[in-house]
Amino acid sequence: MAAGEEPNDEELQRRADNFDTEKAALAVDYLVVGAGLASLAFLDELLSLDSKATFALVDKNEAPGGHWNFAYPFVRLHQPAAYYGVSSEPLAAGAKRSCMMTFEPYDNKDLADKEKLLAYFARAVHRFEATGRVQYFARATFSDGIIACADGSKRSVNVVRKLVLPASNVVVPAMRPPAYAVAEGVDCGPANILSSDEESGRLRTSYVVVGAGKTGVDSVLLLLRRGVPASAITWVVSQDCWYFLRDYIFHSGSAFLGMSVKMLDALNECSDSSSFFHKMEAMRLVGRLDPSRPPPTTFRGATVDIEELELLRTVEAAGGVVRLGRVTAIDATGITLQQGHVALPSADTLVVDCSANGTDGYAPIRTPFEADRIHLTPCYSFNIGFGAAILAWLEKNVETDERKNANVFTIIPEPGDVVKWGSPALLPLILYGQFKMDKSLERLGASSWMLTHRTHQASMKHISLCKLLWAVIGPTRLMARRDQFLAKMEAGGFTDVQLHRRHVA
Ligand SMILES: Cc1cc2nc3c(=O)[nH]c(=O)nc-3n(C[C@H](O)[C@H](O)[C@H](O)COP(=O)(O)OP(=O)(O)OC[C@H]3O[C@@H](n4cnc5c(N)ncnc54)[C@H](O)[C@@H]3O)c2cc1C
Repeated sequence: MAAGEEPNDEELQRRADNFDTEKAALAVDYLVVGAGLASLAFLDELLSLDSKATFALVDKNEAPGGHWNFAYPFVRLHQPAAYYGVSSEPLAAGAKRSCMMTFEPYDNKDLADKEKLLAYFARAVHRFEATGRVQYFARATFSDGIIACADGSKRSVNVVRKLVLPASNVVVPAMRPPAYAVAEGVDCGPANILSSDEESGRLRTSYVVVGAGKTGVDSVLLLLRRGVPASAITWVVSQDCWYFLRDYIFHSGSAFLGMSVKMLDALNECSDSSSFFHKMEAMRLVGRLDPSRPPPTTFRGATVDIEELELLRTVEAAGGVVRLGRVTAIDATGITLQQGHVALPSADTLVVDCSANGTDGYAPIRTPFEADRIHLTPCYSFNIGFGAAILAWLEKNVETDERKNANVFTIIPEPGDVVKWGSPALLPLILYGQFKMDKSLERLGASSWMLTHRTHQASMKHISLCKLLWAVIGPTRLMARRDQFLAKMEAGGFTDVQLHRRHVA
């Protein structure tokens, strides 16, 4: 390894393997791997629930924030900042502090950007360290009882209770080369290039954007907002997706409750996910690029607002959307796709790689609690932070691993499951799991914990208590609707959704 070069994972591992001198050993209750959202939300929760627990926090990155460190500079949350992050630290710009608590109303325009998110996560870790119960090791890995840091130092660790592991392996395009062959001379890279272009004022004659998930959508929007004509954009959409429409879902606390009622009614009225999505589309809760085409077969929770969707449709109207499957190769003659070939629009074309990986990096984990470790598997709707906080709550309040696992409804399909990751049928299944978790937590006596948790969408940190109570016991009878939906799913009421084995176990 050359002097001054950053050590890679292999080098860090080699150093750990060569460790031979015992420095002062560290004893901690929990060794938490990863300073991304899941690990930080878990640590934050347990730190406040267990006033004596001690932690070591280890991440191979330079700074907290996980994949946000590598994201393109113009990235923003796609859901409101009001309930994103860790419980103890507000994030929304409109947060109102009182002596009782901080109220963070929904604002569908308040989507924290990369800079704000990284500062937020760094602040959270500083606060954790200030308690004296958390030791943070940046640019470090943990293996076989040893923390190996990039500067060559090592610490032997005695983990008294459990090792806590992130279940994600989020790989954003900037972290890897494209999954297709790119010939030399083709100008191709992740969305980050668009920011460098913007800084230098460079405009290309034409652009090809590969991918229709969140990064692809953000890239096309950035170009259009920079004044690039829609006719100069070729957008490779291998699969049309359904998008959540932010305007109607997150407009305000009462809109959120109203949306929950509408969604539950649609779930209770429909018997398959295709008619459910059509109903949601009619209520403007979801949308798609071209409503005249057959309904999308993909849904990953990407979110846009209506103005953005209209802007994206200008590329469709200009004939720029290419639907010929996935890209397999790009060279000077053009783009080869699974079902055809298109020429590059001009010699001065930038190809922006926004292609996504299969399950967004999450491995299926049926039992997050094991004898010596906890896997921070996503278990609550599209809310990694609240899911991790629930796992911390179960860790503190429930006696055995078996009972803890029995109250978790993980959402990542396993091989062989009928419902696949990324399919529209996943949404009813995810909602089923979320409502089951709510019921489990209520049964375990966690209702007031949920009611005051900032990362829980329906908490009094975001919605006034009167409105919440009215939704539950007033004429809308939210809970009765929820129970009707749970019973319907358990009776096989959705023809294309089969419950996970772990849901009915
Ligand atoms: C562009 C984009 C926008 C998003 N917007 C939203 C949104 O608006 N709302 C929302 O709820 N979700 C959103 N998400 C989902 C997002 O994945 C989660 O919000 C969350 O950031 C994931 O956190 P994580 O901790 O699971 O994973 P990561 O962020 O990947 O963090 C994992 C961390 O663990 C570390 N690590 C892993 N293994 C080791 C090891 N062996 N040794 C040391 N360190 C290790 C990694 O270095 C990394 O820092 C978005 C995702 C993307 C990609």
